[in-house]
Amino acid sequence: MEQSPHIALLPSPGMGHFIPMVEFAKRLTLQHNFSTTLIVPDPGPNVKLQKAFLEALPKERGMSYILLPPPNLNAFEFDLKFEVRMAITISRSLPSIRDVLNSLAAATNLVALVVDFFGTHAFDVAREFDVPPYMLFPSTSMSLSLFLHLPELDAKVSCQYKDLPEPFHIPGCRIPLHGKDFPEPVQDRNSISYQLVLNNVKMYRMAEGIIVNSFEELEGGVIKALRDKVFQNPPVYPVGPLVQTDHISISSSPFEKWLDDQPLGSVLFICFGSLKSLSHAQLHELAFGIETSQKRFLWVFRSPKYSNDERVSSSTFLPEGFVERTKGRGFIMSDWAPQARILRHGSTGGFLTHCGWNSALESIVNGVPMIAWPLGAEQRMNAVMLSEDLKIVLWPKANEDGDGLVGRVAIANVVKNLMEEGEERKQICERMRDLKDAAAKVVSREGSSTNSMLKLISKWKQNVGDL
Ligand code: UDP
Repeated sequence: MEQSPHIALLPSPGMGHFIPMVEFAKRLTLQHNFSTTLIVPDPGPNVKLQKAFLEALPKERGMSYILLPPPNLNAFEFDLKFEVRMAITISRSLPSIRDVLNSLAAATNLVALVVDFFGTHAFDVAREFDVPPYMLFPSTSMSLSLFLHLPELDAKVSCQYKDLPEPFHIPGCRIPLHGKDFPEPVQDRNSISYQLVLNNVKMYRMAEGIIVNSFEELEGGVIKALRDKVFQNPPVYPVGPLVQTDHISISSSPFEKWLDDQPLGSVLFICFGSLKSLSHAQLHELAFGIETSQKRFLWVFRSPKYSNDERVSSSTFLPEGFVERTKGRGFIMSDWAPQARILRHGSTGGFLTHCGWNSALESIVNGVPMIAWPLGAEQRMNAVMLSEDLKIVLWPKANEDGDGLVGRVAIANVVKNLMEEGEERKQICERMRDLKDAAAKVVSREGSSTNSMLKLISKWKQNVGDL
């Protein structure tokens, strides 16, 4: 019997890249009978978490993984910005990626290599084995369009983007984008990060296709422009939302009991993604703001400091007496929580998020309105889209002068506005409900994301003849 088509997938380090890649691999195996191998570069600080995800994969259904050996990074490289370290990790891992592809090409019906952001370095290696390389873009179509256009912008513009006098109009996008809202790594055009992103995005056009974690009802105009190849881009396949479908168990879960005991829609979930933490001063403002709002909260607390490689406990950074004063009303978890499960829980009524794209999608599929608190990467751009275009977030702004912090009064107000019944919450919730329904529809039979997925599947199946 003919072997099923096999797809190799290479996520770049970071949970925000790893999770949608795993979900995509699951769709291929569980819904389309492909077999898959996740080629996992050294994940850095998330090693334990990634292993837990990988061990939970349904291997009997044809999903396997290979952990690559950690690349040699010197002390200087360890201190580089995350995106730079990520790119170095992938490029130093190329020899082991080549070895893995070599054995997969010999042992399976390997029909494609799928990489994300920084995996474009592996395109040439894939072509050595006549394997077409694809990209899974784990963010919005709007970011993808901006990145595809970046080389032209770079050639045309001489100032920093934040100083551009006019906003940039992304074809198909309903809102203009100001330079100050461009992704963080392209803000300083003299930085290593900028050069790296620029070189990287030039490779996007070499992909055979780009799979996007978005869907028509969210970004129909931009998706159409990408389909029309306005950026001379390869074919795009919007297959989103790709979000966590099941969850690794955590040994004890008192938070779940606590959540079960809270009234419906009463809890604000606070989480800033998998990487970043707030400064000590900002943590204080946030704590005071939440306390003043008097609302219930579940806070995934990541302290800003390490001691002997361990994060310093949350109590060091919270205002004195905060935990006692909010007892019963608040629950604090350290470092990591099963976010998708919490967002699905009926007691959760709002999400204060850094606007990482996976977090935004997880909120949308569960219809949970958000407070935007972007920190880095392309999160500001996501926040602009969520607030100005989709109008499903409230966004407290940082003080323009002085300390640049989001102050406690602004925080208390925004939390009350989101969590209390009122016109503002009502309108956001209505729009959220529509998007939640749309998110479910696009991945159902005949849905637009299902159709995109089927097109891709049929293209990949042609590469192995009739199965
Ligand atoms: N996540 C989680 N628990 C946490 C923090 C993050 O499950 O405590 C998951 C979250 O559900 C999402 C991913 O990690 O799937 C983070 O991706 P996102 O794009 O939102 O942000 P990033 O971490 O890449 O900045």
